[in-house]
Amino acid sequence: MGTFLGYRCSVCGAEYSPEAVTYTCPVDGGNLDVILDYERIRDRTNLSDLMASTESSIWRYLPLLPVGDPGHLGTPLRAVGWTPLFSPPRLAEDLGLSYLWLKDDGRNPTASFKDRASAVVVARAQAIGAEVVVTASTGNAGAALAGMAAATGMPAVILAPRTAPQAKVAQLLIFGARVFLIDGSYDEAFDLTLEAADAFGWYCRNTGYNPFTAEGKKTASYEICEQLTNTVRAVREPPLQWEVPDAVFVSVGDGNIISGLHKGFKDLFELGWIERIPRLYGVQSHGSAAIYNAFVSGTEDIQPVEAKTLADSISVDLPRDGLRAVRAATQTGGAYIAVRDEDILGAVRELARKAAVFAEPAGAASYAGLTKALSEGLVGPMDRVVVLNTGSGLKDVNAAMKAAGEAIVIEPKLEALEKALR
Ligand SMILES: *Cc1c(COP(=O)(O)O)cnc(C)c1O
Ligand SMILES: [Zn+2]
Repeated sequence: MGTFLGYRCSVCGAEYSPEAVTYTCPVDGGNLDVILDYERIRDRTNLSDLMASTESSIWRYLPLLPVGDPGHLGTPLRAVGWTPLFSPPRLAEDLGLSYLWLKDDGRNPTASFKDRASAVVVARAQAIGAEVVVTASTGNAGAALAGMAAATGMPAVILAPRTAPQAKVAQLLIFGARVFLIDGSYDEAFDLTLEAADAFGWYCRNTGYNPFTAEGKKTASYEICEQLTNTVRAVREPPLQWEVPDAVFVSVGDGNIISGLHKGFKDLFELGWIERIPRLYGVQSHGSAAIYNAFVSGTEDIQPVEAKTLADSISVDLPRDGLRAVRAATQTGGAYIAVRDEDILGAVRELARKAAVFAEPAGAASYAGLTKALSEGLVGPMDRVVVLNTGSGLKDVNAAMKAAGEAIVIEPKLEALEKALR
């Protein structure tokens, strides 16, 4: 028997067996948390085994995942995750932080954090014998699903708003998915996807709807702790517990990444592999701040907004994982921070010019949030801080040009160059 016991509703607490439900709570539509058999995991696996693994992808954590090995067919899925965690000394100095790490998830196969979720969803789709996978997406979730589905030969259907950046649409098409650009918002694409999945019997990956996305995303928390341990430990023997940062910063749209990160840290805590859970900080754009609004008014009741931000990946009217996302901050002593679009563009520049990390706007928003959190005293100079970049800057070249300006065109002559240099 595996370690996947079933689901628990995040709203009413009802529990369901793995076969009883597919997506959300039938009673109230609440998001479902996957329940794992921690005792069994502890019996079968320990930190030394995990740290000795030669698998450099999310699949090194297979004993903690509710899916089986994706097998040889799924081999390209094995490039997902185990992204670098490194210290950027110039940024740390600017911010006055003694301990700062960036985790660059722009380095996934389809260049965003979403690969973690899509790889696990495709493994689940295989396990339940699904024939077609479908998702609504602002671009990245779709590109990730299209890529992972292509790797396994499973047809994928993607619904994205027609305003999605061109590079993301190109990714969808080049991976061979059936792509439909919706003349409407991401939220409208989301609702249409649910209808279509129901009507045509497709397996739906939608963020904040399919319980397996968070199970993929949680792997980033495992990596943060394991990689931090590798970075700071002096002796080479496996430790009894992993290191934990004090604070983790991540950009938030639907709220599924921050919920997944929270789940990952909770798993490790339940297993006794970390001694505490870090403070989680969710960063939203002022133009798309539904979860931030709920957090600052001290409620778990998420009111929709009319989202308008250049950070397209976090442009969401009604966050689909808002409740768990609020809790990720409240239950860990973290917070939500809202930043302006111009600060996000500034963060794109800073990350690139001082750490050589090229992030898309939504990926850099987390860094803008850290800057603000420091100015508000939410983070201290001795805190150990991890900032996640969730997407590559190559996905939205127009936004990068907005942040960086235009290049100068000159004639191929030294005088022309000299003149331009002045
Ligand atoms: C999807 C996405 C986010 C936000 O994740 P949510 O689960 O919607 O909160 C942040 N950054 C990038 C680059 C993304 O693609
Ligand atoms: Zn429920």
